[in-house]
Amino acid sequence: MTKREKLLLIYEKLYDFYGPQYWWPANNWFEVTIGAILTQNTSWKNVEKAINNLKSNNLINPRKLYTIEKTELAQMIKPCGFYNLKSERIKNFLEWLKKYDFDELKIKNKSYIELRRELLKIKGIGKETADSILLYAFNFPVFVVDSYTKRLFDRLGLGLPEDYDEIQEFFEASLGKNEKLYNEYHALIVKHSKEFCKKKPNCFDCFLQSECNFYKKEFRR
Ligand code: SF4
Repeated sequence: MTKREKLLLIYEKLYDFYGPQYWWPANNWFEVTIGAILTQNTSWKNVEKAINNLKSNNLINPRKLYTIEKTELAQMIKPCGFYNLKSERIKNFLEWLKKYDFDELKIKNKSYIELRRELLKIKGIGKETADSILLYAFNFPVFVVDSYTKRLFDRLGLGLPEDYDEIQEFFEASLGKNEKLYNEYHALIVKHSKEFCKKKPNCFDCFLQSECNFYKKEFRR
């Protein structure tokens, strides 16, 4: 079986078991971008609380959010921790959005390779956050890599490289450029990593046993 076939087989099994994940859990592209920044180093539950604070102040709107003070923003996003830092990151991101008149279409008209370069120059925006924004807010075909991806596919025996960009390249070259597939696949990886393939994996109940090197090594001697 080629790596592409194995990746597709795992995807099918995940999809058959969990069904569509409807990512990203947000009402519009701007909410996705804010969620992608807020979710750094915290749980989604905390992000939801912060987003709800912004919503109740009618601030899920880039122009409005741009006008408020960094300290005021920090208070509203307090539930997700590192709030001063994240407030600054959001403000940096809003400066970047301003270059495009806060206009989704102007951003989408640009090459995502160029956009990725620009996003990575923003202080506080790393590769995972930039790629989440490109894929889930602007629907570009960019595969998002995170620690769940590394852990799951290492255990499955795909032999991933160490470097973020090389892992991304591996998935994109194997799967082909496909935004819808990347969207669903990443969401399913996160789901499975939370349900079964946790730090301490629940291998005995996992439906991926027959594909998994870790399972074979640990439990089939
Ligand atoms: S069998 Fe265990 S290690 Fe393998 S994918 Fe399932 S939970 Fe993870």
